[in-house]
Amino acid sequence: MFIKQCLVTFLIIASYISSIFFCLSVNANENKRADVIIALFKTNKPASPEQADSLLQELKSTIASNDFLRQKEYIRAKCWNQKAETNEQIISAISYANEQLDIFSQYTPSKITIDLTLCKTSYQRLLGQVETTLKDLTTAINQAYTIEAQLLVAHGHSQRGTLHSYQGNYSASLEDLLTAQNHYESLKLTYWANINLGELATSYRRFGDARTALKYQLQLEEIYIKEGKIFEANGINIQIASSLEQLNKLDEANTRYQVSQQFLLNKQPVIAADMSINIANNLITLGQYDKALTILQQAESTITPEFNAPYSFLQLYLANAQLKLNNYPASLHALQNAEAAFLIDKNQRGLSKVHLLRSNIHEANKSWKSAYFALRNHLHVHLAQDKSVLTKLNAELQTRFDTDRIKHENTLLVQHAKDKEIQLNMLQRNKSMQFIIITLVGIILILVSIFAYKQMHHKHQFKKLAFTDELTKIANRRETYFQAEKCLTYSKKNQTPFSLIFFDADYFKLVNDELGHNIGDQVLICLANIASNVIRKGDVVGRVGGEEFIILLPDTDIDTALSIANRLLTNIEQYEWSIISNDLTQTVSAGVVSYQGENDLSELLFKADKALYEAKAAGRNHIKTF
Ligand code: GH3
Ligand code: MG
Ligand code: MG
Repeated sequence: MFIKQCLVTFLIIASYISSIFFCLSVNANENKRADVIIALFKTNKPASPEQADSLLQELKSTIASNDFLRQKEYIRAKCWNQKAETNEQIISAISYANEQLDIFSQYTPSKITIDLTLCKTSYQRLLGQVETTLKDLTTAINQAYTIEAQLLVAHGHSQRGTLHSYQGNYSASLEDLLTAQNHYESLKLTYWANINLGELATSYRRFGDARTALKYQLQLEEIYIKEGKIFEANGINIQIASSLEQLNKLDEANTRYQVSQQFLLNKQPVIAADMSINIANNLITLGQYDKALTILQQAESTITPEFNAPYSFLQLYLANAQLKLNNYPASLHALQNAEAAFLIDKNQRGLSKVHLLRSNIHEANKSWKSAYFALRNHLHVHLAQDKSVLTKLNAELQTRFDTDRIKHENTLLVQHAKDKEIQLNMLQRNKSMQFIIITLVGIILILVSIFAYKQMHHKHQFKKLAFTDELTKIANRRETYFQAEKCLTYSKKNQTPFSLIFFDADYFKLVNDELGHNIGDQVLICLANIASNVIRKGDVVGRVGGEEFIILLPDTDIDTALSIANRLLTNIEQYEWSIISNDLTQTVSAGVVSYQGENDLSELLFKADKALYEAKAAGRNHIKTF
């Protein structure tokens, strides 16, 4: 039992030690540089695509082939930093995400699959695949909630909010973007919080609140310029231009658009051309039709139908410019292109404008009937839109109300969680106390046991010492006489025979004198051993004097006793005494007696002594009986 407990304790200690070693070996696997780069990608977007590329290269080269965790981080970072300036690049970025998703897809969602899905949707969006993107985003957000991956929850909401905003679904957009904002702020991810704030501002602008939008945008512009984030600063510059445009500050807006266009010209030609569309639209409002037309026609070479969203507006404004310049067929043609593109995007905002413009063209052409139908279509879409805006306004109010309710519920939940935590902590503390007490009690028990064992051992040793002859380790004189009395009493009581052999080393004084006291001691030890080997179980051998021994033989008659004494003498005589000292020989003489109704032990011992004396007298190495 004790051994078993020891084994269990040993195993526990061994497992602790091995786990410490395991931890140490894991630590040995650390890769600080890789972790720094991974953290950089998580908290920030690299300042330029070139920097992203070089960081990715460096990350790849530092990760060991068996370091699967960091390999996953590399794949995630790589997915997010694919080039997406041309259609081919976007398609290849989506393929990369899909390939990796195939590799990592499992039955249960994981961080990497959710992140790759989010990454994929960011590219899908650019191709105008709105429905699929929304579906994928919603799946990813739900999965991120299930595995409690807060950063992915935030990214998911931010992306979906941006998409809702583009589609004109403002209440859903604000709900998503505000949720994302809360998550980013609680994660202290300032960079992503700022990006999200930019999207929130855009949503406000689209919702009609350009002033609030501009306030946030100017704040962000200042932050980005201060931090040297030129790409982000440029992005916000475009947003500011849009807000200014909405506030009817068209010249100011165009100046900003032009600055961004210059910045993007070589880096992102499609977006640079997109600036032309906005500039041209403002120029039309300002009455500069020719200039607007030239700019739009130049942009047409870059913004081809594959870039559906910018293409739709390019064609719409082109139609408008042509109308203003009285080029009706060209205007109608462009309008048809615009309509087709808006239909793909399900952009009601655009479609409403298409119908109004078509009505204007027909009106200018004096095709009153067509103008009427177009206007009716416009009104139809416009009213539907108004209705939807109203519904969305209601939804917006509802959202705000819900937000308050959710906030209240969250506060309660947080309080509940805190209470739970306190309870758990107390339980944990109690458990720790229990463990400490059990350990202490265990230690005390072990110490007490060791102490008790030692005490018992000492007692036993003392007892043994009291009965044992120190030199030969056989019974001492006192014990021998005590045992002899016992044998005699038993024999008297049970009428059983009892014999004893009294033997004495011959000429022992000579051994001491010639070979030294030490050799004499060894001879005595040998004599005790030989005698102990001769006796049977139940017999007792004891040292009763310097070189005098007694063997007690209960239940033994005189003949048996004599034959035992004979064996004893033979064994002693034939012993290889030269082992102790060259030329050493040793014999003993013995007196053998049997109980024959003697009054007491001394009487029997007296007879034995007499017999021994006679044996000595007979020339030593003899046995005599009384
Ligand atoms: P005998 O044959 O007549 O018995 O002769 P003996 O020399 O054996 O007898 P004697 O009684 O003259 O001598 C006994 C010796 O035993 C004397 C003593 O020095 C020695 N002796 C007694 N106890 C011890 C002991 O513990 N160790 C040793 N080495 N010698 C002892
Ligand atoms: Mg002697
Ligand atoms: Mg003697």
